[in-house]
Amino acid sequence: MKILWTVELNKKLCLILQTICNKMKPAEDTPYLKGQRKKLIDELREKKMLNEEVLDAMMEVPRHWFFESAFYKYAYQDRAFEIGAGQTISQPYTVAFQTTLLETFPGCKVLEIGTGSGYQAVVLAALGCKVFTIERQRLLYEKFKLLHTALPSYKTRIKYFFGDGYKGLPAFAPFERILVTCGAPDIPGELVDQLKPGGIMVIPLGGGDVQVMTKILKGNDGKISVSEHGEFRFVPMISDKAKF
Ligand code: SAH
Repeated sequence: MKILWTVELNKKLCLILQTICNKMKPAEDTPYLKGQRKKLIDELREKKMLNEEVLDAMMEVPRHWFFESAFYKYAYQDRAFEIGAGQTISQPYTVAFQTTLLETFPGCKVLEIGTGSGYQAVVLAALGCKVFTIERQRLLYEKFKLLHTALPSYKTRIKYFFGDGYKGLPAFAPFERILVTCGAPDIPGELVDQLKPGGIMVIPLGGGDVQVMTKILKGNDGKISVSEHGEFRFVPMISDKAKF
């Protein structure tokens, strides 16, 4: 009985995914949308403290690729937006701020926890990083899988996984950078273990409604030092994979 129910559910999921697939080819980057994006990036630039290369990468990556066409008008507003499964694509300012704190460099190996729409992963790829990203929501993982196949050159720099980000990816560790894009109640020990000495982890910390953006430096002796960078709001980091 349970097997039949699972098969039915999988069939439904396939149909939904096929529908999404047809819509998930990266959309055309029209002059209008490019103009909207430039306006957004100029607004972000005025907020200062944001790295220019990060802003250039965000100018390069069409954020509307990660939206259904009916919602393109929201893609270049500085706000988070629902992407399904009760999750959100982060606000552009938050993406710019976290990526600035991460201090990436071309070729650096980054682990991202919370693929979501995939936007942050593609921005990291546009910066030249080798990205490993994990998502615990099956629907979002499958959605990104479809988008990934249609992505231009960035796709060769992104590996994506369905799993529990608390566990990281020990088989691919160590990572020079770790970026957590959901709010964690505490610093996950397994992620610290997978951070290379000399590496940086950026993680929003706090189990309630508000998280403190935290930057963790791992010294060459393995000791960590922590600095705090203001309050943000994230969806929670939940342990284990979502069950179907
Ligand atoms: N980086 C994303 C932001 C997504 S919001 C983007 O650019 O769109 C955070 C995501 O973290 C959600 O998709 C949520 O499902 C995921 N998440 C929460 N807990 C997780 C965990 N333990 N492991 C992996 N992903 C997790």
